Amino acid sequence: MLSSVSDPRLIFLCAWLVVSTLACDDSQKPPDVILVSIDTLRADALEVREDGWINMPRLAAFAEESYVFSKAYTQSPHTIVSHATMLTGLTPRTHGARADRPLSETHTTLAEALSELGYRTAGFTAHADWLSRKKGFAQGFDRFESKFRSAEANSEAAIGWLDSWWTRFSRRRGAPIFLFIHYYDVHSDWREFPYESEPRFAGFYADKAVEDFVGCRDDVCASRLLQRANAEPEFLSSREVDWIRGLYEAGVATLDRDLGEFLDALDRRGLLDTSWVVITADHGEAFGEHGRMLHSQPYREAAQVPLVIRPPAGIERVDVEALVGLVDLVPTLLEILGAPAVREIEGESLVSLMAGGPASDRLLEFDFYHVLENFSVRSARFNLIFRGPDKDIELYDLASDPDEHENVARRFPRIVSEMLSTLADSRAQRIASLADPVARQEISQEEASRLRALGYIE
Ligand SMILES: [Zn+2]
Repeated sequence: MLSSVSDPRLIFLCAWLVVSTLACDDSQKPPDVILVSIDTLRADALEVREDGWINMPRLAAFAEESYVFSKAYTQSPHTIVSHATMLTGLTPRTHGARADRPLSETHTTLAEALSELGYRTAGFTAHADWLSRKKGFAQGFDRFESKFRSAEANSEAAIGWLDSWWTRFSRRRGAPIFLFIHYYDVHSDWREFPYESEPRFAGFYADKAVEDFVGCRDDVCASRLLQRANAEPEFLSSREVDWIRGLYEAGVATLDRDLGEFLDALDRRGLLDTSWVVITADHGEAFGEHGRMLHSQPYREAAQVPLVIRPPAGIERVDVEALVGLVDLVPTLLEILGAPAVREIEGESLVSLMAGGPASDRLLEFDFYHVLENFSVRSARFNLIFRGPDKDIELYDLASDPDEHENVARRFPRIVSEMLSTLADSRAQRIASLADPVARQEISQEEASRLRALGYIE
């Protein structure tokens, strides 16, 4: 629901009139669009803690001028898969991108759609393997760079593009810009310590330091150490997990400083007055909440993401509590810009929710690394997790158990059956509506019937 601090419909209408090419005279160029993806940023990074501490003061201040979605979820915990959804408006099962398969040229990306509208487009990603040209992520970008580099260096490259003669010339001639920037600093790495942070943020973990433990054990370090902990539950003590969480928090605080400097650079160039700015993440990160580290499980800590959308010049904060997904981002931006809908879109535009409209009765899917038998599906109230026909279904009642610890599947068999049935119907419809016959064949109707074969639904 929306906050009552002001009339969000009026604010939205004003922003719309200012930015819409349909409503304004020819001298009024369409708004710029800036999409910031912070890899591995937990949704609770925005929260004010019990002691009043805010770990991301710059992002929190930015949120005060934005639409803030408190129940936003990724459709996959994998960086490639999630970004492919974020940039196409398609679910993982449809776009098919994954570690061993690039994003297909047959899909229309946001950059391609905006390019068609006359936008100058640029993408700067901080993972040279996953979000790369060879993985299909350069589609639609006039300028595309993917390099392993810090947020600071990546921002510098993006600002360099903004300041380039060509970009400035294009903007003066009335062309809007679409800038996509990806930060990787708070993802664990394979070197000495997980998560990137500055020494001045060491207070986040110094008081949690564990004697003789510096992030390595048995010559296993950083991300591999976290993977080992997933394979061997007793490998890390709870104190060690706390210490590692402190490292992550320090990384997030460092990233917030870098994000703030990037926003300042945009502001100095007048871009915060002309741009719709989206700040989000591809997935969160787990610290043993459900017995695992890293991000592979469909529980809140890894599946929920921050989603902040700021219109040109900002607004008084509007909180939107409806269930939304990264899959909704492309249709939302296209509607805001008055752009024609892309042929294949599976997400829902959030414009109506932003203007105070009612939430739809929807389900959101989450895929585990494309293991088709394994998925989670969320409604506004429940998270259902299916791990294969020989495993118990998990169902969590988010109204009474937001942290997802008490499995209530046996208590609510009808909810389980209804959610699976609705899911099967929507998958069958989706497959039937696919325009690409190859994709239709690949996904096949077997997938829709798979759920029926499990015996939970008729
Ligand atoms: Zn990621």
